[in-house]
Amino acid sequence: MDLMEKLVSLCKRRGYVFPSSEIYGGLNGCWDYGPLGVELKRNIKEAWWQDMIAHHDETAVPDGAPRAFGMVGLDCSILMNPTVWEASGHVGGFNDPMVDCRETKNRYRADQLVVFRLVPQNGATASGEIADDEVLFASPGEAGKTADEALLSPHRKRVTALRKKLGELELVPVAEALADAQLRARVFAPGASQPGTLTAPRAFNLMFKTHVGAMEDNSSVAYLRPETAQGIFVNFKNVCDTARVRVPFGIGQIGKAFRNEINPRNFTFRSREFEQMEIEFFCRADEAEQWYRFWRDRRYDWYVQLGLSTERLHLREHDADELAHYASACADVEYAFPFGISELEGIANRTDYDLRQHIERSGKDLSFFDDQEPDKDQRRFVPHVIEPSAGADRATLAFLCEAYCEDEIGGETRTVLKLHPRLAPIKVAVFPLVKKDGMPERALELYRSLRRQFSAFYDEKGAIGRRYRRQDEAGTPYCITVDGQTADDGSVTIRERDSCEQQRIAASNVAAYLEERIR
Ligand code: ATP
Repeated sequence: MDLMEKLVSLCKRRGYVFPSSEIYGGLNGCWDYGPLGVELKRNIKEAWWQDMIAHHDETAVPDGAPRAFGMVGLDCSILMNPTVWEASGHVGGFNDPMVDCRETKNRYRADQLVVFRLVPQNGATASGEIADDEVLFASPGEAGKTADEALLSPHRKRVTALRKKLGELELVPVAEALADAQLRARVFAPGASQPGTLTAPRAFNLMFKTHVGAMEDNSSVAYLRPETAQGIFVNFKNVCDTARVRVPFGIGQIGKAFRNEINPRNFTFRSREFEQMEIEFFCRADEAEQWYRFWRDRRYDWYVQLGLSTERLHLREHDADELAHYASACADVEYAFPFGISELEGIANRTDYDLRQHIERSGKDLSFFDDQEPDKDQRRFVPHVIEPSAGADRATLAFLCEAYCEDEIGGETRTVLKLHPRLAPIKVAVFPLVKKDGMPERALELYRSLRRQFSAFYDEKGAIGRRYRRQDEAGTPYCITVDGQTADDGSVTIRERDSCEQQRIAASNVAAYLEERIR
């Protein structure tokens, strides 16, 4: 089993993530978080809210950042006036190119199908013209992110035959092959018996549509929001008028977003219903570049502080030709998942595009008036926006992938989730060594007192070693065992998850001990 299969299986077995409506066969692209998963995801969202919004410390703004600033939160509705999505460009432009295979009935996102030719590995033909009788191959995989072998695997038989004929082969991507009818006619789709079964790419709008009220006609159309960001923009004036904020400042929101993804995959990574954690940070145009760098670095550091390794976490600055037309800079925080390097979060300098779109469409004045600005001409302006946009489900998946570990303790292999203590669903488990001699009573008493402060778990079933293993799989950083000595001197053993080391401490000190290590 590869790491992803093991993780999916652990998530199901231990109650992290279940397929949605599983007893009815599930629903593609939808997932449910079980008792442990909900705690993990809540801790991630809470860490984000605490670190970015509530306890955001303006004194921690590094040298060179323009000015101290405030952060406030918002919780907007999922259904909004549909004009919002016209102004934002989602109705007209939130499309993915969709391609169908007429033979296998599979559906793909065109930009996630890599089309390539196979040429003899002597270099001479690699740059040459595509011969008239040459066939091409299409394989799912985000361009440049998948190993050659993975791209070749759906065409194994044909590749082997070609190798027999031509020797070692080189894989040469053919850009835009699907848009060109002549080239498309020569493409073998994954699993197809003949070439030319793929349709031309056509735009597919990713927004889920519904109707508001009793009438199901064009006048009642509404959309499930595909991002939380627009709720922030349309409330910009409300927040300015009520929250005593002054630019530069940011508004954050955590909430569900919905996208009718053509091809949901990679477990929860690409879902149709997911949660976003978004910030719109408003600043003056001439300070936007500095704030962009500030947020890009701050968001990268946040993942590192919570345990993602810098070997697997990358900050990728977009090239100019990758930028959306309104953005002046964008970087992705990417993580090396077992299925490839993929985006966790995007940080973009969106200029004043969004506020200007809403000003134009709504006719409302969404400029900011800075009454403390000495220069009269500079007092009224439309702020520029830096947007760090993260996905709570992708973050959860990345922390799970990073934490998953199999190691050997005393000659036995154990599975352990080495989650950061702040994120661990259960912080402490309390066990009586055996179910007699007053141990359960003393353990329950300790458990009940700890539960007021920490998410705690009590377990008296099974051998103590098995109870430890169960908590290792749940990522619980500390286990406390009440034993015979507890009655004599009030001490308990405390076992640390990663090292498995145990020490005796006074039961009365447990709360302080945990407090120091978990916060
Ligand atoms: P992708 O290119 O992977 O489709 P995107 O660039 O369209 O993502 P954004 O529109 O920038 O994504 O959304 C911001 C964040 O929301 C992403 O970085 C990701 O964490 C999260 N997100 C977007 N789409 C999904 C999805 N289908 N499932 C889970 N999370 C998602």
